[in-house]
Amino acid sequence: MASSQMSRDEALECTCCRHACHVLLYSETASQLFGRIPIRYIVLMQMRFDGLLGFPGGFVNPLEETLEEGLTRELLEELGVAVPVSKEDHVESCFSPPRSGTYSSSSRLILHFYVKKMEEEQIREIEKAAASTAADHGLEVLGMVRVPLYTTKSGGGLSCFLSHSFIGVARSQLMNSLLRLHLVSPGDLQEALRGSQRTHAESAQNLQAALKLTGEQP
Ligand code: AMP
Ligand code: MN
Repeated sequence: MASSQMSRDEALECTCCRHACHVLLYSETASQLFGRIPIRYIVLMQMRFDGLLGFPGGFVNPLEETLEEGLTRELLEELGVAVPVSKEDHVESCFSPPRSGTYSSSSRLILHFYVKKMEEEQIREIEKAAASTAADHGLEVLGMVRVPLYTTKSGGGLSCFLSHSFIGVARSQLMNSLLRLHLVSPGDLQEALRGSQRTHAESAQNLQAALKLTGEQP
């Protein structure tokens, strides 16, 4: 366990902490990109209101509801369908890394992370409902996205996806889950991360050029 990690029960002992629960939903799939690249798994994330990628879920109040009831309530708002999450789906709890000026030390945020495997049909229903009936669509959630687990010949796919910006520890939650669930091999993930670093360097250069275009000094 990393030093910031704790068990679900230890986490609940902190009554002055705030708690947030998020979940990675995934399914197997036989579909193939361009009819030849196996997608293998559908892994859902979302584009959040703040432009960052994250997992569906949100704040939970353990004094009024169990963590899983709270998460299920949040999922109904963000996905538009009831996705029951249980204690068995819990993977880890940890303190959120402090974000400057966001939380005082008296209200530290504990993040609870869950993983739930579903049928492909259920995932497709979630994607439809999230873009139509979900209360948070277009507000807190700008859209659901699938994580590409493959790497294309030109180096696109997982490496480009990982080079986006993520909320808090979402990128490591994603990478740890991909390894733990054997959705991606350690070697492929390492390769994707190397590609991601290159993409980052190119993005930094592009942004610098864009700044010049707008007349600002870098
Ligand atoms: P939400 O309501 O989904 O934005 O989540 C509640 C709180 O948890 C917010 O303060 C987010 O900044 C934070 N948060 C959400 N997802 C993560 C994550 N994967 N890692 C760290 N913090 C997160
Ligand atoms: Mn949320």
